[in-house]
Amino acid sequence: MSEVRHNWTKEEILDIYNKPLMELLYEAATIHRKHHDPNTVQVSTLLSIKTGGCPEDCGYCPQAARYHTDIEGNDLMTVQQVKAQALRAKSSGSSRVCMGAAWRNVKDGPEFDQVLEMVRTINKLDMEVCCTLGMVTENQAQRLAEAGLYAYNHNLDSSEEYYKEVISTRGFEDRLETIDNVRKTNVTVCSGGIIGMGEKEEDRAGMLVALTTLNPQPESVPINALVAVDGTPLEEQEPISIWDMVRMVATTRIVLPETQVRLSAGRTQMTREGQAMCFFAGANSIFAGDKLLTTPNPDVNEDMEMFKQLGLNPQKPFIKKMQPETVEASDSKYQALGEKPKWSRPDHKIERNEEAKQKARALK
Ligand code: SF4
Repeated sequence: MSEVRHNWTKEEILDIYNKPLMELLYEAATIHRKHHDPNTVQVSTLLSIKTGGCPEDCGYCPQAARYHTDIEGNDLMTVQQVKAQALRAKSSGSSRVCMGAAWRNVKDGPEFDQVLEMVRTINKLDMEVCCTLGMVTENQAQRLAEAGLYAYNHNLDSSEEYYKEVISTRGFEDRLETIDNVRKTNVTVCSGGIIGMGEKEEDRAGMLVALTTLNPQPESVPINALVAVDGTPLEEQEPISIWDMVRMVATTRIVLPETQVRLSAGRTQMTREGQAMCFFAGANSIFAGDKLLTTPNPDVNEDMEMFKQLGLNPQKPFIKKMQPETVEASDSKYQALGEKPKWSRPDHKIERNEEAKQKARALK
């Protein structure tokens, strides 16, 4: 087994990223085979349980209230609506449901209690449950764990340096603190980022340094290709080439050998051949369903057809880690503490974010 290292340098990672492609693919595929079944791909369904109206200023995100995009916001879904969607996802081959809410951070109260009930409900369907709800405190992470949460997603987005060029309303260190809070529970960590936001290759390597430094390393790492949405500060970014995606996936596989590497946003822009190359390079997870929170994604049937063509099988749930038990709300050890954590607000000015905000104001 190739060893898991936590001391990669940016230079070492850049050397891997820039290897001749055939060498890079061969090395990544070899490591992939040592740690994973190369014909199995985990399928997750992403569900936007609360869309739009987010107070943050993430430059890539159409759900930020301050930008003018076509997103129609909605209130928190009901437990029954979520259950129906989860059953649909299960019947089409998904082993995991990832619920996303456009929140800065979790707040104790009825809405969080409702999310906890959603977690209990999906875990009882014998599916892995993941949530992405913004920053969480240790007590909130413990409550999610008790409800039966399998994974918590909190992306680093980019390198610490480039993060500051994309987001000004929350700090990189808060991302790390949330991941640390999740790590104090038995919930697994899902954390990755986005390429194609105008960052340099050094930033891609820098993000991987940050992810590899985490100990233990995240159990899953989504690699997103930016989907530039009109009205967002990054609306004019050109789509990245498939070669960048393949190099990023292969490099991630090499430096995070045990992680499940997920092809996330941007798959609609990739051909089937391009995706096959990513699977060869070590990607072993995808998001299924025609929407990824708010951006388009390939149709489930199309994905299943691709799996058949490539001889891939969807991964069964709880293969990597045992199913957590669900503790009912009435038996819970952890109660709401009504905490008011001081998550940072760097508030430095990012020119393109300011411009997008002004444009949105003018359109109101
Ligand atoms: S990425 Fe998340 S936190 Fe950032 S604006 Fe979008 S919904 Fe809000």
